[in-house]
Amino acid sequence: MFESMASHSRLASSAAWTIASSVNRVLPEGALPAPSWAPGRLLKKHQRTPMRTGVPRRTLSLCPDCNREAVEAVIRGQNDVAGFRERPGIIDAEILEEGGRILMRKACETHGPFEDVLSNHPDFFQRMEAQSLGGDFDCVGDREVHDHGPNSIRAGRGSYLIVDLTNRCNMMCRPCFMDANGVGYVDETDMEDLKTIFDRAGSFKPNREINVLFSGGEATLSPIFLDAIRHAKSMGFHRLHVSTNGIRFAESRDFAVEASAAGLHGVYLQFDGVSEEKNKHRGLGNYIEVKLRALENIAAAGMQTTLQVTVVNGLNNDCVGEIVRFALRNADQIHGVIFQPVMFTGRDERISTEDRYAERYPLSQLAYDLQAQTSIDWRPMRDWYPASAYAIFSHLDDVLDRGLERGSLFPDMHPDHAIMSPLLVDTDKGKAIPIPTFFDLGRFMQDVVQITDSGRPPRVTRAMVLLSLLRNFNQAKAPSGLGPYELRSLFEGSLYRFTRSDDDWSRQASAKTAHWRLMFFNGMWFQDAYNYDFATIYNSNAPVATWQGEISFCAYNGGGWRKVLESVHHTATVADWYRNHGRHQIYAAGKKVHLVESLSRRPEPLVQIEAAPVGTFFTRGCRDLEMKRLVRSGG
Ligand code: SF4
Repeated sequence: MFESMASHSRLASSAAWTIASSVNRVLPEGALPAPSWAPGRLLKKHQRTPMRTGVPRRTLSLCPDCNREAVEAVIRGQNDVAGFRERPGIIDAEILEEGGRILMRKACETHGPFEDVLSNHPDFFQRMEAQSLGGDFDCVGDREVHDHGPNSIRAGRGSYLIVDLTNRCNMMCRPCFMDANGVGYVDETDMEDLKTIFDRAGSFKPNREINVLFSGGEATLSPIFLDAIRHAKSMGFHRLHVSTNGIRFAESRDFAVEASAAGLHGVYLQFDGVSEEKNKHRGLGNYIEVKLRALENIAAAGMQTTLQVTVVNGLNNDCVGEIVRFALRNADQIHGVIFQPVMFTGRDERISTEDRYAERYPLSQLAYDLQAQTSIDWRPMRDWYPASAYAIFSHLDDVLDRGLERGSLFPDMHPDHAIMSPLLVDTDKGKAIPIPTFFDLGRFMQDVVQITDSGRPPRVTRAMVLLSLLRNFNQAKAPSGLGPYELRSLFEGSLYRFTRSDDDWSRQASAKTAHWRLMFFNGMWFQDAYNYDFATIYNSNAPVATWQGEISFCAYNGGGWRKVLESVHHTATVADWYRNHGRHQIYAAGKKVHLVESLSRRPEPLVQIEAAPVGTFFTRGCRDLEMKRLVRSGG
């Protein structure tokens, strides 16, 4: 009976959609608005610059050895920044399929051939490329911001503006993407630098909203950390976050409360596995206890946490499923997860070829490992999309809301480097299900592109999106209790979460999704000199804001810019810094952070990992689940 009603309603919405879209096709397309934040009218799909995709294809890359030599020439004073900018060590490269893998091959006349693996699942790689949306606007008026030769960003605004506050850190991990505490000098951003950075950030078009991500080193060690948040807020940036190892948040709930009061919305917390064993390479003696306490204090201060997981093949890729399970069980505190395959930069830039092959972790492998380590029928070829799919909804928001001061957050990253998959979480029962099980997300996104391209007035656009939402919803396959009303609320909550820039966007987003929660799992692959592809640098998703303008995160860390700029700009030697400011603790070789007991009664354990019944989450894979013991014993 229920199934027949559900199927009836789906048929009715499909019929209504067929009629509405036929009428829409017959009518001439309308023009899209030209908001003041954009360099022109909003772009339709066919007007966007296509991403460079396809296999085989030729591109430009870096010779890792020439690049390192070019960096060292600046550090030794034999070259300057302008010289490095023009000649960072570029060579030709080819991307090809061979033996069930997608490879990058290149050869340097001086240093010989290099090969790296971009994917070990060619079908998945090509599925992501085929769904790319195309780029954002070319930048206008950005000469002061983007002037980095062949590494210059040319289009879009990015969706994370990374602001490094210090290169100091209170940990000593291996891997460390930036060799914190290993370079012999201290480079700190002061308030003057910071003001220039945020002035420039709003100085060009497209002037979009962006997630500011204070970073480092360990950003919370910076003497200006709280002032930096306050300043960004005063400049009208609405999405303020910090990327952190969590030690300071674990040490002090007051610190978390102060950061939240200054304007911080959320925390990106380093988290490489649910056991001490899986985090040994980080060197912190009570890693799990620190992370749990940080989560608790961040949540108590009213902020959400996104887990930031560095995945190294053979080290912790067998635990990615357990990390997802941990996140789902703690959905009240955890906003989502970003898996970041290791990049061979910083402490690892001289990795041996043998180790590089062994540790390289392509994004496609993440989707297949999650399928294997979970029991929720999480299918790589059905449930994963390029992360640029978010931009379809940002564009919808721009089309609907014509009075925005800034454009919506627009993640137009290249499909080879960023993927995403949403799960629906029942926060009461602790269950999860991939969205495409009951909702045709792929067809919905195609519908939204078609609707926005037709350029109708906002109320018609809204009505058609709602119709498409209903026609793609299969009530018979949805979890019980999730109907069209809940689906619509989830959709509206997601729009808030990913696109809006109102002051209360994070509260609005979670208010709309109290019982049902969409949790997004992302894979973000930053490049190093071995797999560097210049064709993907021009519209960087994650620009790093420096005294020399905004530079793609990949160019900054993987293409040598960090060392070049820090060597010119650094403020003190490490010894001088300690002499003038005093030493701070570095947690390495098993040293533990001393945590005082919470003043309030300690809450119930954050997680109890036990064998999961079939139909909830998991699991095969990681067996070393010390969490329960650790939580009970307090570490
Ligand atoms: S926490 Fe570890 S990886 Fe991050 S900056 Fe510090 S040493 Fe490097």
